[in-house]
This record gives sequence, C-alpha cells and structure tokens, in this order.
Amino acid sequence: MVTTISDLTDKLDTYLDTEQVETVRRAYYCAEQAHVGQTRRSGEPYVTHPLAVANILADMHMDHQSLAAAMLHDVIEDTEVDKLALSDQFGPTVAELVDGVSKLTQFEFQTQAEKQAENFQKMAMAMARDLRVILVKLADRLHNMRTLDVLEVDKRRRIAKETLEIYAPIANRLGMNDIRIEFEDLGFSTLYPMRARRIQAAVESIRGNRKALVANVEKQIAEQLRKDGVTARVIGREKHLYSIYQKMRSKSRSFTEIMDVFAFRIILNSPDDCYRTLGSIHSLYKPRPGHFKDYIAIPKANGYQSLHTVLFGMHGVPIEIQIRTEEMEQMANNGIAAHWLYKANNQDASVGSHVRARQWVQGLLELQQNAGNSLEFIENVKIDLFPEEVYVFTPKGKILELPLGSTAVDFAYAVHTDIGNSCVGCRINRRLAALSQPLKSGETIEIITAPGANPNPVWLDIVATSRARSQIRHYLKQLKTGEAVELGQRLLNKALTSFDQSFDDVGAKKIAALVNKSGAQDFEQILEEVGLGNRVAFLTARQLLDIQEDAEVNDMAIGHREKPLVIAGTEGMMINFAKCCNPIPGDNIGGHITAGRGVVVHTADCRNYQELQHNDKEGRGVVLGWHQDVEGEYRVELKIEVEQQRGIIASLANKISSLDGSIESIKVEERDAKSSSIHIFLAVNNRIHLARVIRRIRVLKSVVKVERVKR
Ligand code: MN
Repeated sequence: MVTTISDLTDKLDTYLDTEQVETVRRAYYCAEQAHVGQTRRSGEPYVTHPLAVANILADMHMDHQSLAAAMLHDVIEDTEVDKLALSDQFGPTVAELVDGVSKLTQFEFQTQAEKQAENFQKMAMAMARDLRVILVKLADRLHNMRTLDVLEVDKRRRIAKETLEIYAPIANRLGMNDIRIEFEDLGFSTLYPMRARRIQAAVESIRGNRKALVANVEKQIAEQLRKDGVTARVIGREKHLYSIYQKMRSKSRSFTEIMDVFAFRIILNSPDDCYRTLGSIHSLYKPRPGHFKDYIAIPKANGYQSLHTVLFGMHGVPIEIQIRTEEMEQMANNGIAAHWLYKANNQDASVGSHVRARQWVQGLLELQQNAGNSLEFIENVKIDLFPEEVYVFTPKGKILELPLGSTAVDFAYAVHTDIGNSCVGCRINRRLAALSQPLKSGETIEIITAPGANPNPVWLDIVATSRARSQIRHYLKQLKTGEAVELGQRLLNKALTSFDQSFDDVGAKKIAALVNKSGAQDFEQILEEVGLGNRVAFLTARQLLDIQEDAEVNDMAIGHREKPLVIAGTEGMMINFAKCCNPIPGDNIGGHITAGRGVVVHTADCRNYQELQHNDKEGRGVVLGWHQDVEGEYRVELKIEVEQQRGIIASLANKISSLDGSIESIKVEERDAKSSSIHIFLAVNNRIHLARVIRRIRVLKSVVKVERVKR
C-alpha cells in the first residue's frame, strides 16, 4: 500500500520519464493545496484519496496524464480551482480528463437511476469521449468502495448498489475483470453482509475437503504438459463470492452443485501451444460434448480471449478448463488497461499485443486518428462504444434511449403519443430550440405542447424513430379528406409566405400548370397530398412559383473570375472556386488541378478537398495563398436558424445590404410551426466582411443560430 507521494513516484520511475513523473508530483502538490483543510470521513487529509486513486492507476501502468487527472479529479468539483487554471498548469488534456470525471460524478447525485442502470452505464460511456475518463472514474470508485466502512449504512448501501448496477458492468464491458470482481465482492458484502459471510464460510469449509483432489488433477495436467514439452502455469481457480451468489439465485442451483465443479486455468506462451494443449488435455480426460468454446478465434465482445472446455474427471466430477496465453491472461484481468501495461513493460513483446489490443479496441472504440505508433494511439483513444444511440433526460431526470439523429419530435412520441401529437416546440437544456435539432447525449429535453395542435407532415422528414413516424402517419391517415385539404392549404400558404408570396400572387394559370404537370385530378388533390404528408409543402410552393432549383446556384455570375491575380501563384491559369466550400479571401486555401476546370480552389478544411488530397497520386494538388491586394466579391452560403419566419427575410435582407453584402439567393427550409432554417447565398469581400455580417445577423431577435455552410 502506497502511503506517500514519494512511494508513488518511486513506482512511477520504473516506467515513466522523469518529466512525466514530475508532472504527477506537481499534480499531487496542487491537489494537496487545493484540498487543504478538507478531510475524508475517516479523518485523514483529503489528498490521501486522490493519491490512492492515482496509485491504483499506477499499478495498471497508466500514462502520466491519467495519473495527473486522478490526483486532481475532485478539484473542480470541490475546490476553488477551475478547469481553466488546470489547463494553464497541466495542459488541456489533463483539464479535459478532470472535467470529464467531474461530469460523471455530478450525474451520480442528480439521478435516481434505479431502473435505468443500463442506460446510465451506456450514457456514461457515450459521454466520456476519452476512455481515460472512465478509467480514472473506475479507480476513484474502487478506492471509495475499499474505504466504505466509515460511512453510514444508508450511504454505504446506495454506493454499493450503484457500483453493482453501473460500475461493475462498465468494468466488465472494458474487459477489466480484476476490478469488476473487486467491485462485485465489495458491493455484495456491503449490500448483503449476512449472505456474503455465509457463503464465505461455506467456501472455506469445503476448501479443505477438495484440497487433495485439486492437487491430484493439477499434478496430472502438469505431467501431461511436461510430456508435451510445453512450458505452462497451471492455476486452480475458485469462483468469487458474488458469482456463486448469482448462480445460486439466477439458476437456482444449490451451493453444493455450484461448488461441485473443479476449475483450472492453464497459461502458456503462444496460441499454438493453447490449441496443442487442448488436444492433449482432451486425451487425458474425456471432454464433455457441447462444452468446448473457442474464444481465441472468436473473442468475446469485450475482447476476452481463451479456450474453454469441460472434462469428466475421476468419478465423473466435472472439470472446467480455461487455456490461454500470458497476454490473454493480462487482457482478461486488466482489459483495456492492459494496453498501457504492455506499452510500458516490454517494447518487443508489445508489438503483438499492441496489434491485438488495437484490433480489440477498434471493435469497441472509434479512433480519432489513424495512429502510427502506440503513443499516438494511446493519446487519441476516443470512446464511442454506443455510436448509434443518444441518451437524454426528461425534465424529471428519467433517461430515454433514442437512436442517433433523433429529434425532439422523436422524444415527444417516445414519452407519449398525445405529447407527440400536440407538440409545438421544445426546450433543450432549458433553451428554446428547433424541433429539428438532433439531440445529444446528456441533454435535458422539455416538450412544449398546445391544446388543439396537430402533427405536422413535415416532421416525417425530421424523425428518426419508427414509432414517431408511424404515429404521425397514423394521425394523418385518420384525417378526413376535408381536413387534409384544409391542412394542406394552411401548410402551402405558410410555405408561400416564406417566399413573400400568397395564393393570390400565384394565380390560376400556374395552379393549372402544376395540376397538369403532376397528373393530379385537381388542385384539391394536391392540397390533400400536402396535408397527408405525401407531398412537401415547401417544394410544392416552389413549383407553383416556378422556381428552378439549380439555376440560381449554378449560374452565379461573380466578378472575381475575370479578375487577374486573385491568388498568388496561379498566374496564367484558369481558376475556379469550389462550390462545396466557397472559399473567400482570408480562408486558408488549397488547389487541385482538374481537367477542363483549371485550378479548383477549396478551403483547406473542406472535406472534399481533403479527400482529393488524400487520394492524390499524380500530384495534382497545388499550394495556394490569396494575393495580398485581392479584390472582388466572393460567394458564401449562410445557414440561419430562426424561430419564426414572418417578416424575418425582409429584416435579414435589410441587414445584409446595409453592410454591402449582396444577396444572391435565399432558400427557406420550413422545419415546423415555430422555426425554419434559411439558406442565404451572398457575396462578400473577405472573411472580415463576412464576420461583420454574421455578427449583425446574430443579434436579430428571432435568429437562433448563424453558421457558414461548407459542404
Ligand atoms: Mn473521488
């Protein structure tokens, strides 16, 4: 047991650089100072807790940033020191880690997650983008569990329950078996002290009776392996208390039945040895059919690898055997953390395990970068174990799980069909937000309903859940023809308003033309289709107004094409500006030579451009910079989210032209009754000009969000 910082740094000296050890030491003194005067329930100075947490991580040979974060993990939450100060002193990564741990800690107190344990687990994982946040949190919890007895019974029980329901499964998911087992046994004996004691006593009493038999089997196996010429460790295994308890409960088997199994683990040098040993063991004892499992070829979801088999021993006693390599054993015990261990311990052996660790992690995690070396890999491990789901709160703190891309409308229908049907708006984290905004994990969603409100057919485009979609369709189908026509008319009228037009402006001729073109019987049928959600009101409005979708986008005449020397280094070449990212002076740019189009200029951060560069084998990329005297107008696309649209287009247009920005076109995407997003193509001189325009738009009352669009 480490008791002082110098004991810890001695340990760290065995696997970290001097400088890294120094960082951890500084973090210790920073924590000591920040927590000065605070004590733990046991009476010890508070800093002993973060020190112990760091020590747990040091045993797993975790990197210095995790250790620094462990030292500081309660500082943001419990002291005057804030994230910014940590970032100044220890860098942004450590500050992010501490912040991540604090956020997880807050959720513990916020939610009574009794029935929601699984969702909470997943949410915790989804929210901690850096895996090390979870590892620090697990170590924190482990130390708290080890020192639980100073707390009063209620609190002890609550923490133990949470550990069993949330943290043990997380440890399991990450393949960290040692920690999981400790969580389970500590949690179990806290929650059910009597039962734990009874099982413990029973285990001890039969241990004596089994001794001879265990030794006998162990000897036979060892002899067999020696004959085969393989080096191996044979370990007799005992089930841990909580797993015995669970087996008794879930499979309602008696204690004797469960304990009437002998279990051994054989640890070897290579996978090849594992398979050979399996064959050899099968010739020693008769295998039980249907009990062989090859987790080496097909690892478990958490990366666990091993061969499992069950044999009939003497007198028919079942013998469970696990066969694996040392590395697999490390992985099985420490899971994700074994990766750090290998990196630090043995440079050569780490290659194989590193590859495997990476394959394993890739199954679980999304790597931020394609890592060339192990250090980079570790620095950048980002976790996204459940990339397809988001977890959000109701105002009362209940957690709902929704598919990625779900909106407040999905949320509303998930709560109740009536809420969905009468939904008119929403607040996300107490701020008014568009119904179409995709939800993120951890957000609190509040639905605003109004009596007599109806589902909007437009919602069919913004929902991600089949439940919401079928409920909306169900509602729309119920509409009688008359109601559908009426609703269609209302929607179409609203869409026309966004073009500052009305039915009167459209005129009978255009209506007849549309009816003709669409093959509908009459205009009423078109309105009905709009009302039923089979036709999009916005597009129908465009058709009525005879607006051609692409003309305005493609045939933009901007003066800059004639201007020479817009870009330094392109003298005499044809220049085209990419339509995906619309670069303007001041942007970082790059060029790509394209047949027939000369140099196509992209912004450096444009996704298309980066893809082109990535696949560029012929050297078509050119380095570009703006000419210092660049003039002219350059087109950009802005996306403006507004709360309600009546009159807003006029005020936007006024604002923009008062700043000498010329609007080239405006497209309105109606989202729902309360909000829409407006796409404006406008010409500006450069980034400074654009920034001025954005600033002025942003202060308009109904504008929720302004962003430059780069596709
Ligand atoms: Mn703590």
